[in-house]
Amino acid sequence: MSFHDKCAVVGVWNHPSASFLTYLSLYALQHRGQEGAGIVSLKDGKHLSYKNQGLVGDIFTKDKLDSLKGKGAIGHTRYSTTGLNELKNIQPLTWNLNGGPLSVAHNGNIVNHALLKKKFRIFTKGESDTECLLPLIKYYEDKDIGQSLLKALAQLEGAYSLVFLTKDSLIVARDPMGFRPLVLGQKDQAYIVASETCAFDLIGAKYLREIKAGEILIFNKKGMKSLFLPQAKKKAQCIFEYVYFSRPDSLVFNKSVYEKRKKMGEYLAKEHPVEADVVIPVPDSGIPAAIAYSQTIGIPYEMGIIRNHYVGRTFIQPSSLIRNFKIKIKLNPQAFVKGKKVVAIDDSIVRGSTSKALIEVLKTAGAKEVHLRVSSPPIKGPCYYGVDTPQKKQLISGQKESVEEIRQFIGADSLAYLSYENFLKIGNKKDFCLACFDEKYPTAIYN
Ligand code: AMP
Ligand code: SF4
Repeated sequence: MSFHDKCAVVGVWNHPSASFLTYLSLYALQHRGQEGAGIVSLKDGKHLSYKNQGLVGDIFTKDKLDSLKGKGAIGHTRYSTTGLNELKNIQPLTWNLNGGPLSVAHNGNIVNHALLKKKFRIFTKGESDTECLLPLIKYYEDKDIGQSLLKALAQLEGAYSLVFLTKDSLIVARDPMGFRPLVLGQKDQAYIVASETCAFDLIGAKYLREIKAGEILIFNKKGMKSLFLPQAKKKAQCIFEYVYFSRPDSLVFNKSVYEKRKKMGEYLAKEHPVEADVVIPVPDSGIPAAIAYSQTIGIPYEMGIIRNHYVGRTFIQPSSLIRNFKIKIKLNPQAFVKGKKVVAIDDSIVRGSTSKALIEVLKTAGAKEVHLRVSSPPIKGPCYYGVDTPQKKQLISGQKESVEEIRQFIGADSLAYLSYENFLKIGNKKDFCLACFDEKYPTAIYN
């Protein structure tokens, strides 16, 4: 079974507090995975590791971080959809090669991992696709780790933003299609690599540039050196990073996520205006689009739904006496919606259950009309490249024939999505993966 990991990776090189900077960066990237986290540091050629289930802030105490000595470190936060969140699956993963220890952390999904496991006779303890990597590197082991990586990574298909720690270097790599983001920053004499730039803001690092698609960047005592994998025919940067996944205060693929989300809201307002009293976001991911929708259409913006930010992944549900408990524990409508015509803005509809429950609680709170506007097109297919979207049959747009059928299911007075054509205005089609919206998958799929 493969995981669809939506994760964050971090690497720090040449800093006396490398593990502490890694910890802080993971803290900033917690939105990319909440099930487990780990850090491996490099001290005198040895790897020191600590990983556990839970949130970054709960896993690492000061004592734990102090024990992760050394001037180089890598880290990972993990989210998996399978429920098999066992310690053995939490990254970074560490192996001993002939040339010394090798640890790795991965964001993405290697689509041909099952084939590779068969071809290279790879037997693994855990279930993740990342596990095929280290045996593959061992297979191609060379005195020059850069050459091993060039050969091993050339076997992979799919999405990978990777950070490796060896006995004497930090190495980072991004797949030739550039699915997942990966950025390079600098803090004094140290280099930092992270999934998103919001990590640099927290630790006071300067953003230098993206790791290029297909680039392998090696940091060691000689300095920094780039190698390149064979170029891909097209790029396939994940457009969903702009829709939902990344933090709005990050630069992703060199562009502000916040500005991209506002653009989607602006196009949505021009395409699907509504005569209403108030524009309200579905917090948090609908906020930038709702601000732009309100500004474009000239209807006031209000926080009509308040989000409880402290809801964990599990909670004890009361008996069915409390209707819509699952949504109410997270999102609560304000009293002012009573008697109002409301336009609610969300970034996406996946299964449709959030929208359906939300519309019911808004109506129960007295909203006269609820019009839902969605700042991306209908999600038609699952993601095979590291974002947790369900199978087609669980997607509301996979089940229902038309937007009207979806409207009836969720109970909105009207429903409209940003069109695919206008959505494409936020990113050049040739540079992006849009497969969950158009089912044109940029690689072979081996399910
Ligand atoms: P649903 O109830 O399945 O339709 O969920 C829709 C909500 O989930 C929207 O408010 C989105 O902001 C959010 N969402 C979109 N994609 C994801 C994802 N991959 N993981 C978790 N939540 C998501
Ligand atoms: Fe991103 Fe969708 Fe492509 Fe997955 S299928 S990489 S979520 S655009």
